[in-house]
Amino acid sequence: MTRSGDLYRKVPVKLLIKNGTVIDPYRGTEYKSDILVVNGVIDRISGSIEKCPGYELIDASNLYITHGFFDMHVHLREPGYTDAEDFLSGTNAAMAGGVTSLLAMANTIPCVDNTITFSGIKAKTKDLPVKIHQLASVTIGREGSALTDMRSLSKAGVVAFSDDGTGIASSEIMKQALKISKELGKLISVHAEDHSFAAGVMNESALSEELGLPGIPYASETVNIARDIELAAYLDCPVHFQHISSKRSVDLIRQAKKRGLRVSCEVTPHHFSLTEDRVKSLSANYKMNPPLRRTEDVEAVIEGLNDGSIDVIATDHAPHSKASKELGFLKAPFGVTGLETLLSAGITYLVKPGKLSLNGFIRKITADPRVLMGIESDLFKHGIKAELVIFDPEKSWEVDGSKMESKSSNSCFEKETHFGKVLCTITGGSIYNSKPFLPVKTIR
Ligand SMILES: [Zn+2]
Repeated sequence: MTRSGDLYRKVPVKLLIKNGTVIDPYRGTEYKSDILVVNGVIDRISGSIEKCPGYELIDASNLYITHGFFDMHVHLREPGYTDAEDFLSGTNAAMAGGVTSLLAMANTIPCVDNTITFSGIKAKTKDLPVKIHQLASVTIGREGSALTDMRSLSKAGVVAFSDDGTGIASSEIMKQALKISKELGKLISVHAEDHSFAAGVMNESALSEELGLPGIPYASETVNIARDIELAAYLDCPVHFQHISSKRSVDLIRQAKKRGLRVSCEVTPHHFSLTEDRVKSLSANYKMNPPLRRTEDVEAVIEGLNDGSIDVIATDHAPHSKASKELGFLKAPFGVTGLETLLSAGITYLVKPGKLSLNGFIRKITADPRVLMGIESDLFKHGIKAELVIFDPEKSWEVDGSKMESKSSNSCFEKETHFGKVLCTITGGSIYNSKPFLPVKTIR
């Protein structure tokens, strides 16, 4: 059982979604159409599909249908921190948020730095409706000193590597890791942070001084981004930067792309929406790493989303127990939840104010990350397993952690009114329906 009861069920044998507006993020098109899903597989997408007896019908008039969201940055907390989240609650949160595929970070206990731990997770998650791509760490124990057996891990099915939570201090280790990742064709997802001068809890600024809180300078992020851009150029290999937070980071990546380097990056919803001003409340729901920065940084990441300098939007969903987040701003752990507010944060902070088009935003959470990861990106093909989301961009709702599927309620949008609600998610042969919004009728 989940917080909302039976969250999902087997998708009906013949499900007809009628009269919706289809956003095809792979082709960049938008059109009115019906979609027929048979046995959990896309059968037809066509202007008008006739209702037949035995079909179950969703009337999607005034609603949008698109690919299931792909979140490149999620902490599922299992194994090790299951009081905060586990595979099941994380899956439920993902489905409620429209996320049908995700990359799970390796900073669990034990750390995913060997094939035994990796295979154990794979066995536990393979039958869940959400596709969980478990990452392995780049270095053993994420300690930055010895590389994991990346070749064996890759063979076992690891799709990418990351020491997320910690920056890799040694340029030599990073160089070796990038070299192997190039050979394997598997991305390294970089948490860019130089810890030798980043021992703070919020953005380093006049405000951090005023509040008497130790600051994290933007340069602790950019020195590692600059280094790894140079390493990628030196080795002629791709590199991906996680959760970039500062204007300078966007500038560096924009320049690297202009040089023709295979550099990509992601931004989180909190970094395109909120500034360090939120920290004035001293609520640990505004404590994350990298920290919330200044208005000009938020503006720069939005510019980066528009001009393609920033490739994807990823949540960095980082659930923490209530008790740990109540330890006070200095002691509370970094991180906020994000799976269930991915769509609404984008619509509320980007689409509604006219800072990014709806199609542009949807692409950043669907086709673009799949293309980047080299995973099937054309999800409206006949015969493909359905990964679909039906959403209402106008539906307003109050963000309330106590009503979410995640075990944790540390959202930085708590109590805000958001626009945009996922009403239905279809993935892995299961259908999540945000009752009572979207009735499914049986045709007789
Ligand atoms: Zn990180």
